[in-house]
Amino acid sequence: MNTLHKTWDLETIFEGGSESEQLHNYVLKTEQEISKLESLVHSFTSPKNTDQTKELSEVVDQIQLVTKRLGEIGAFISCLNAQNVNDKKAGAWQSRKNELSAAFGNLLTEFDQRLVQTDEDVWKSLLKHTPFRQLDFILDERRKAAKDKLELRQESLINDLGIDGYHAWGQMYDAIVGKLDITHEGKTLSVGQASNLLDSPDRAVRKEVFDKLQNTWKAQTDLFSETLNHLSGFRLQTYKYRGWERVLKEPLEYNRMSEKTLNTMWETITKYKKHYLPYLKRKAHMLGLERLSFYDVEAPVGSTEQTMSFQQGAEFITQQFRSFSPKMADFAEMAFERRWIEAEDRSGKRPGGFCTSFPDSGQTRIFMTYSGTPSNVATLAHELGHAYHQHVMDDLPALNQGYAMNVAETASTFAEMIVSDAAVKHAANDTEKLTLLEDKVQRSIAFFMNIHARFLFETRFYEERKKGVVSAERLNELMVEAQKEAYEDALDEYDPTFWASKLHFHITDVPFYNFPYTFGYLFSMGIYAKALNSDSNFENDYIALLQDTGRMTTEDLAAKHLGVDLEKPEFWEQALDLCMKDLNDFMELSAKQRND
Ligand SMILES: [Zn+2]
Repeated sequence: MNTLHKTWDLETIFEGGSESEQLHNYVLKTEQEISKLESLVHSFTSPKNTDQTKELSEVVDQIQLVTKRLGEIGAFISCLNAQNVNDKKAGAWQSRKNELSAAFGNLLTEFDQRLVQTDEDVWKSLLKHTPFRQLDFILDERRKAAKDKLELRQESLINDLGIDGYHAWGQMYDAIVGKLDITHEGKTLSVGQASNLLDSPDRAVRKEVFDKLQNTWKAQTDLFSETLNHLSGFRLQTYKYRGWERVLKEPLEYNRMSEKTLNTMWETITKYKKHYLPYLKRKAHMLGLERLSFYDVEAPVGSTEQTMSFQQGAEFITQQFRSFSPKMADFAEMAFERRWIEAEDRSGKRPGGFCTSFPDSGQTRIFMTYSGTPSNVATLAHELGHAYHQHVMDDLPALNQGYAMNVAETASTFAEMIVSDAAVKHAANDTEKLTLLEDKVQRSIAFFMNIHARFLFETRFYEERKKGVVSAERLNELMVEAQKEAYEDALDEYDPTFWASKLHFHITDVPFYNFPYTFGYLFSMGIYAKALNSDSNFENDYIALLQDTGRMTTEDLAAKHLGVDLEKPEFWEQALDLCMKDLNDFMELSAKQRND
């Protein structure tokens, strides 16, 4: 590989950053395309027979065109915002983009309602016609979703009232959190900064910060129980008017999966939990404790000194990818060489990492801050996995490129697993190896126990909320009950105000922002298990699976490409068995170290 740059190149997309003339013209042209869509949608009448394909295909083509253009604009703006948090111009572009998206959203709602009015038989035969055949799943999904909702005027009213109701409660939550702080060693810290200290290797620090955070959240639980009760109340009222009885209807449909799949997943995980109990005990002893508390579960047991330069990290990742998929390795190499990655460690950048795609130009960009730790290398591999997922979908129709949260993490987790497994194999010594293994087991614990607690809490909370307002005290109780159950009662101290401190319970874009994480993790674990036991065809099978993530249910995806039934335990058991391997390796190595 050539010598790599640590900064990305955005000029090949639009020249001139947030002052870009090209971006300006592109946005203007997109506005014109939205106006064109508007007149197409307004004049579009529900097809009465299958001869009316021309009108429908014009609208669909225009929707796909606007989808791509808005995606391109949105991706560019998020790159500008991330690379320099003080770029005011980029902030202004963001508001402009939000307006365009809102206008586009309204046109889509209107279009979907026209589809509902189409006669069932006409609709079925329309979907068999050439322009729509490859979009049949997505168009039918849109129509069904619109059918389950109220008529256009009522849905518009809900949407409009939601701005100052539903979504406003979510924003109120953010506003209250923004005002909270704690003092630690004489310094004032935001709750976000303080939470980072919960990973401290020093238990006294963890305990002190945890207690202070508890006090801070507890002092405000009355406000947070207001935000949570109103937000969920708005959601439940909307469901009631739409005639939706199950709270899980929306999140399951959004993730294109069945309740049976979800239940089978949790049941199988629960059966495997007992294997993690000796690990929690061992970890407690390694930290000099009798039992772990909530704030010890993610504490580090050792440290890794081995670091890799960006160049070394890039070469290591590409090399590991190659043993599973030469195409994925070639893609990664191209992304590095064409400067699709922003990795420089400098101030003024947004924290965290992401991957964003430019659907019009068929490019992607990865954002992160790379300082050479094993976790940086894993993050880089993770984001390259996302980029590769997009890459294999580039030539598909825009409407077939939208995949849900539960499969969104498939390619990324898969890529990350390849690299973190290789890191364990290449560890310099046993201490290093143990730290890396522990990191992997800890990830499983987060998906199987922590996320499970969130899911249990949220389901139970919604059931109680249907009967009326749930008090702050009761929310604390529900949270601790859920945590005790999810962690098999293995911890000493729990986190009663977790429902207040975890943003995910208060976001309004997607309800139940929890189980898709666990699903995605185990789903890619299952694919990884297949890759390890598979012949040379794996690469193409894998690509075909990724390409279908935006156009079928999760059950169909798994049946078609993995030959498994997600509603039965076998697939989940196979994935969990792979997690057991890391667990056993950790237990053996840590026992050996204790005897040395
Ligand atoms: Zn990800």
